[in-house]
Amino acid sequence: PKWVYSFGGGRADGSAADKDRLGGKGAHLAEMSRIGLPVPPGFTIATDVCAAYYENGRRLPEELKPMVDEALVKMAAYSGAHFGDVDHPLLVSVRSGARAPSMPGMMDTVLNLGLNDETVEGLARRTGDRRFAYDTYRRFIQMYADVVLGLDHGLFEDILENYKALKGFELDPELQADDWIEIVGRYKGLVEKELTLRFPQSLRDQLWGAISAVFGSWQNARAIAYRRLHDIPDDWGTAVTVQTMVFGNKGDNSATGVVFTRNPSTGVNELFGEFLLNAQGEDVVAGLRTPQPLTERAGAVNGNGKPSLEALMPDAFAKLKDACAKLERHFRDLQDIEFTVEAGELFMLQTRAGKRSTQAALKIAVDMADEGIITKEEAVERINPAQLDQLLHPTLDPNADMTVLVKGLPASPGAASGEIVFDADEAVHMKSQGHTVILARIETSPEDVQGMHASAGVLTTRGGMTSHAAVVARGDGPSVRGRGRGPHIDLEHETLEAGGIVLHKGDVVTIDGSSGKLIKGRVTMRQPELSEDFSTLMHWADGLRRMEVRANADTPADARHARDFGAEGIGLCRTEHMFFQDNRIVAMREMILAETKEARRAALADLLPAQRQDFIELFEIMAGLPVTIRLFDPPLHEFLPNEEDAIADVAESMGVSIAQLKRRIGVLREFNPMLGQRGARLLVTYPEIVDMQARAIFEAAIETGKELHHRVRPEIMVPLVATKRELDLVKERITVTARAGEGTRDERRLEVGSMIELPRACLVAGEIAEAAEFFSFGTNDLTQTTFGLSRDDAGRFLGEYADKGIINHDPFMTLDNAVGELMEIGVERGRAVRPDLKIGVCGEHGGDPETIGFCEQIGLTYVSCSPYRVPVARLAAAQAAL
Ligand code: ADP
Ligand code: MG
Ligand code: MG
Repeated sequence: PKWVYSFGGGRADGSAADKDRLGGKGAHLAEMSRIGLPVPPGFTIATDVCAAYYENGRRLPEELKPMVDEALVKMAAYSGAHFGDVDHPLLVSVRSGARAPSMPGMMDTVLNLGLNDETVEGLARRTGDRRFAYDTYRRFIQMYADVVLGLDHGLFEDILENYKALKGFELDPELQADDWIEIVGRYKGLVEKELTLRFPQSLRDQLWGAISAVFGSWQNARAIAYRRLHDIPDDWGTAVTVQTMVFGNKGDNSATGVVFTRNPSTGVNELFGEFLLNAQGEDVVAGLRTPQPLTERAGAVNGNGKPSLEALMPDAFAKLKDACAKLERHFRDLQDIEFTVEAGELFMLQTRAGKRSTQAALKIAVDMADEGIITKEEAVERINPAQLDQLLHPTLDPNADMTVLVKGLPASPGAASGEIVFDADEAVHMKSQGHTVILARIETSPEDVQGMHASAGVLTTRGGMTSHAAVVARGDGPSVRGRGRGPHIDLEHETLEAGGIVLHKGDVVTIDGSSGKLIKGRVTMRQPELSEDFSTLMHWADGLRRMEVRANADTPADARHARDFGAEGIGLCRTEHMFFQDNRIVAMREMILAETKEARRAALADLLPAQRQDFIELFEIMAGLPVTIRLFDPPLHEFLPNEEDAIADVAESMGVSIAQLKRRIGVLREFNPMLGQRGARLLVTYPEIVDMQARAIFEAAIETGKELHHRVRPEIMVPLVATKRELDLVKERITVTARAGEGTRDERRLEVGSMIELPRACLVAGEIAEAAEFFSFGTNDLTQTTFGLSRDDAGRFLGEYADKGIINHDPFMTLDNAVGELMEIGVERGRAVRPDLKIGVCGEHGGDPETIGFCEQIGLTYVSCSPYRVPVARLAAAQAAL
């Protein structure tokens, strides 16, 4: 097998198409080399070897060695440097690289490999720069010891800090050759003391050690955690790239940095990035030193007074700008690029599709389609529907009173309030206890990723905007980074000091990731104003989708939100929810508890006007769009009074004694209310409920129709149907009511349909379709009844079920396969009888992009979801249709 792929000098064995085998980084290095960008030569060991390494008990296969030797010779030919040559030593980096999606900073890298006590002297002679040679050697020892030998890098940092303090140095560049020679000695001493082993002087041992360690880092804790969070399979494995080193630490004409081809938080088409002078890449991505701005413009807006790369190295900057343009056109997407300038010469070290905020994703997709780089279909496909959610969430009300403690740098847009926590694990814990938290850290490291994910927002006091952790956070929610004036975090005492105020763990703060503000307490938020890019993209999506998108809305407020977000009707109005409001609950209880038909009719008569008014408002708001009204479907226990006070109230208004009422409550109590007398069963046995609701619907339709001069389109839906006969009986009551009085005129417009939410209903869908004019899958109940699992009780063990691999997702969030199969049967049998049968889905799943994809496949007419999810569903439906 071919395991080793060389690249360099305008050529490459692999290309961007080989991501699965070369990893994203290796494949893109090959591609950059092919298109003539300056890439230091090297080779990539394919991901297959990772699998072999693990199968082999964490040992590399012997056959790999000659292949690597050959590739090293090829690589040496480009520069004339040779691995182990004392006069002209070749130094390499050993880099990890998973398939896309990339796992930034989650695995290990070793830089400057190829140095020992002899070659370091060779390097010093060849470059005429001992300071540089020994600075490089100490970096190598520390990194190799950390990554390969497993020594804590903090031990090395302590040595350096002590030395600097003793000699009165502040910054690393102040150290001279002799200082670094001294440090190198101490570092080697540390390795000997801690590990009773001489720091490896054999370059071969170094190389194989590093390659093994990088393969090994595929299974380190943070890489595993990251894969869990992002659904990346464990068996993909990483590739390993060995590449000629270029040096950003060769003095003040050298630098290393990161650049995005467009601004990843706003999407604006301008270079966005940071760099460090006289430094190596790890210094930037580790977020330890505060970097300088790339462009003059960014420097003026956001900078810390330090000069930009554009000003300092105009030639290298111009080349970088060209490379960015070329890469963006070539890959047809925003690129996130790592580069190094060695003695004025530019080198490209990595490029990948850049992570971006949702706002930026929209702008970039729309702009690129307008610029002709991508098509509209591609623009629509590029937006992750789940991410849209973020945009639809509130921002700070600008008129709200607020105490701004400090204004930091905006790192990721959006706003959130929550309790401060100072530890990532604690954030995860608090979230699981139902708290909303803001994670405050001095700087974030990859270990914090899960905690960041669990937090509503992240606050850091330092670290660059392109640090790995910031990259990971982008797309996770709002984030703010402090600068000079604070905030100041004391991790030991778990306090945060800003603007002269000390806050403790658990205190509530608000962060605004769009402006960079840290605010004391909670702040009122405002509904989002959606950008023009958002409307444009949604408009494109609407033109591409087949399914309709409706909303689940029970109240006028819901209905208005639904329309604002582009819903094309109401797919589910849960009438019983209307009765939780105001004092209607009392009349409702009277109705349920009534012992006779007459008493029930009297209670229902009291409910009629309110119910009619509700429908009038919904019809008005929906202005001619379909409104699907589900008849009464409450598990009755939800409405029965429990507490003594409530029982006394109901007894009084019903004119019965408390004892009598309690007896009645006892009679009505069910062992398993979710499977009891609800839905169609209640409507069949208490038909007067149907009479009242049907009448309220008709009267409202007529009245609204008169006023607005447009058709009102009520669709009446019967819940929890298991047999055709149930539907027949309820439908008959509706028809009778429709014929009575004014209802007659609307009979033609009336549609009566069935919810399909029991396995039996799916199987007898053909029979039900003879009576039903439409179907609506109630996937919540269908999931419960297919699994025989109550949603309200599932929380206790679903987590453990996921851990033990029994389920791989929550079936109440994303549709289960078996439930899907039942739906397919229902669609097929229903349409066999009534080919034009309108079929929708109205469970929680209606807003889940994956489920929406399935609904498209089985040919549903529409999906219905909560109002805030409507844009998500519109986009997902378009993507499903493409
Ligand atoms: P990660 O996947 O964690 O970003 P990388 O393999 O990209 O790890 O390495 C981290 C940093 O090391 C890079 O950003 C780059 O600056 C630096 N680096 C890697 N290889 C080289 C090289 N051949 N020459 C100079 N710097 C390098
Ligand atoms: Mg990198
Ligand atoms: Mg239901």
